[in-house]
Amino acid sequence: MPQPTYNGFETVIGLEVHAQLATRSKLFSASPNQFGMAPNRNINPVCTAQPGALPVLNRQAVTYAIRAALATNCRLNEVSIFSRKNYFYPDLPKGYQISQFDKPIAEHGWLEIEFENEPGTRESKRVGITRIHIEEDAGKSQHMAGYSLVDLNRAGTPLIEIVSEPDFRGPAEAAAYLKKLRAILQYIEVCDGNMQEGNLRCDANVSVRRIGETKLGTRAELKNLNSFRFLEKAVEYEIHRQINVINSGGRIVQETRLYDSARNVTQSMRSKEEAHDYRYFPEPDLPPLVVKPDWIAEVQATMPELPSAKAERFVQEFGLPEYDAKVITSDKALAHFYERAVAKSAGEPKLVSNWLMTEVLRMLKESDKEIEDCPFPAEHLGNLVALIKSGEISSKIAKTVFEEMWASGQEPAVIVKEKGLVQVSDPAAIEAAVRKVMQNSPKNVEEYRAGKEKLFGFFVGQVMKETQGKANPALVNDIVKACLKGEK
Ligand code: ADP
Ligand code: MG
Repeated sequence: MPQPTYNGFETVIGLEVHAQLATRSKLFSASPNQFGMAPNRNINPVCTAQPGALPVLNRQAVTYAIRAALATNCRLNEVSIFSRKNYFYPDLPKGYQISQFDKPIAEHGWLEIEFENEPGTRESKRVGITRIHIEEDAGKSQHMAGYSLVDLNRAGTPLIEIVSEPDFRGPAEAAAYLKKLRAILQYIEVCDGNMQEGNLRCDANVSVRRIGETKLGTRAELKNLNSFRFLEKAVEYEIHRQINVINSGGRIVQETRLYDSARNVTQSMRSKEEAHDYRYFPEPDLPPLVVKPDWIAEVQATMPELPSAKAERFVQEFGLPEYDAKVITSDKALAHFYERAVAKSAGEPKLVSNWLMTEVLRMLKESDKEIEDCPFPAEHLGNLVALIKSGEISSKIAKTVFEEMWASGQEPAVIVKEKGLVQVSDPAAIEAAVRKVMQNSPKNVEEYRAGKEKLFGFFVGQVMKETQGKANPALVNDIVKACLKGEK
């Protein structure tokens, strides 16, 4: 197994992922749970901690947490407890966050991840999920020149925190897990997974140890990594930093660090607090949360389709190879794009998959875009495939049409019409082109007829050129053959 090693060291990584739940209201009050509002609009006495205001638990948030737990193979605890996590912060008006501590809603889950530690070495492994707990988000401070402002819109937003076991042995594994987890949360519709908006946030705990050592090294926690790329780069930097410290005789201190993406370094933010610093105690204003088996069964019964189930369905229903099905379903938006395209493709799901996996993904990668930013709608790709299927355009012309679709977002049929790209399937027209080519190269005709059969390709090429690539390739083959043999 090509586990990355670093000059006699190996690395150990565990992730804490915070996912904002897509409920309509906040975790403990009726304030709207909505992103992007003007400051301090989505607030009420509970999220602003007015004296005497009491929390009331949002049932939908618990339902979403149960969904996430089931989708990540966790065991649900019938009784879980909300606790107060005490700390002072200007954007935390209560002076504590309501979270779950020693009795979280779910524990002991796992996910199967696929990754490449080195290019071309695709492998998979099962990684552990320690726990999922429900908690509320804090507000946000905005630092201005010389003063700060507090916006409490985010205060009380429902979150689940998903804590992994320290099971990752390199940055690629950690990123693969985060991608998979994000996809699952999006599929089950509990979290939008928008990392730029802070909707899904990731902290990476990183330590190193000498190969053969079984004790874990001291970890540093890298806070709020808001993209897959930053996660990988921050972890990579941190591994080298820690090894350098150890190799030069120093010791790693347990601390919280921030990643500076502009400089590609991690910097110490504060020494790491321990659980006892938070003075956790059970929240007296909320009863224990009881999740009975019938609630779990109800959530299970209404669970949206998971990526693995969708991939299996794509194999069954569309005859896709397993690899294609996995790539396409690894992202909910991509899978949705595919299904919409297939619906328009005149029954050619495999051809749609080929175009999506090669041309579309390649162009997205080259322009550093996501499928959501594709310049044309999914239906256009389906229409393009239908035009190929009906013989209206050749696969070769389709590439030209595709380029134009990418550039202008225009309907493929319109492009074909405007650019005069319709395939020539009229045998007489093709024969005329063949005759012309033969007339222009009498020597090649003679040599071909004398047995130099590999000249066949030359004639086909010339005829395609003559017809500006628009001739139906199968017909060209037949007619060239017949004419050269003198059958026509
Ligand atoms: P805290 O909130 O104090 O960071 P958590 O239990 O919520 O504690 O999360 C700890 C995370 O750090 C887990 O993902 C765990 O797998 C990971 N972890 C613990 N010890 C190490 C270590 N020595 N090296 C790397 N990761 C670690
Ligand atoms: Mg932590």
